[in-house]
Amino acid sequence: MGRKQKLRQERKIKNKNPTPPAVVTTAPEGTVEGIPSEAALTAIVKEIDSVFPKSNEFVQAMDTQIINGDKHYKLDNFEQCVLVKQGATKHGCVHSMRFMDVTLRKRSTTTEGHCNPMFMHLAHPWLLEGAIRGSFRCIMTLIGEYYCDHAEPNRNADVLIDYWGKIAHNANSRLPNLALNALKDEIERTCVICSKTDTKTLTLQQCIGCSFHCYCSETCQTIHWKEHNHRGECKQLRILNKYHKPYAKAIRDAAIRGDKEIPSLEKLRYKLGLTRPLEDYQELIDYNTHDGKAINPKDYVVAREDGTVWVGSIPSSPIGT
Ligand SMILES: [Zn+2]
Ligand SMILES: [Zn+2]
Repeated sequence: MGRKQKLRQERKIKNKNPTPPAVVTTAPEGTVEGIPSEAALTAIVKEIDSVFPKSNEFVQAMDTQIINGDKHYKLDNFEQCVLVKQGATKHGCVHSMRFMDVTLRKRSTTTEGHCNPMFMHLAHPWLLEGAIRGSFRCIMTLIGEYYCDHAEPNRNADVLIDYWGKIAHNANSRLPNLALNALKDEIERTCVICSKTDTKTLTLQQCIGCSFHCYCSETCQTIHWKEHNHRGECKQLRILNKYHKPYAKAIRDAAIRGDKEIPSLEKLRYKLGLTRPLEDYQELIDYNTHDGKAINPKDYVVAREDGTVWVGSIPSSPIGT
């Protein structure tokens, strides 16, 4: 189901009933000029993700009933959120992790019917948890709805889009390279700050950390590193390259088998900051403020300066350093 269609549906339900259980539909197939439509892509990714075990909590949260000829979830959004959080925390259920984003962000629509970004920073760590376990639906949402924000320079995460796009494409060739689709304007070598290109007298220098971005000068590199927080995404990429990439397949296989203990996954979670103690970011959760100042949650979804996440998921004792 396309995003617009979803929004229309959510608006429709909202008007009908102030505390509605959502209507359940299945995504239609379809392609546009050989490129899978969003709906078709969702259907492919959904099928690929079906190999992951579903926790009882997720199954219970998805339970439906027929009301006036329409299929509705039996539980309301809040009840589903509580259940899938348990499914994610207790069983590492990737379906629950993805649904955390649905309950926190997609269902929480504004009066205009748009997705509510108010809890985006709280949903993000759950999508990342799903992504590192190899859930393609989580990866697709991160790329398409979290890392593509060009409204403010510090929200954009081209380097992470590139990383996750390649991970998904290499793992399953049925998926188009999502990174290429999302980054089609970035392929040419230009200075990411001032758009200068290579000339006879100027050779752009690549960022040593990611080899992705190019700069015409140290000045442009410093602006990108500090003001645009490339530092955060570049360091997160380094963590992913070192602690995720070599283990990605093994972690995914273990998650599909339903292994309870996956040491490489625990180490990665620690390195990404997903296991940080709750006190570290309690204020961001409880008040949507940071050091007493109101935040825009969209600014809190990529990475902190050291590459770790702003908000963790499951605080737990660190394994390894
Ligand atoms: Zn420049
Ligand atoms: Zn870099």
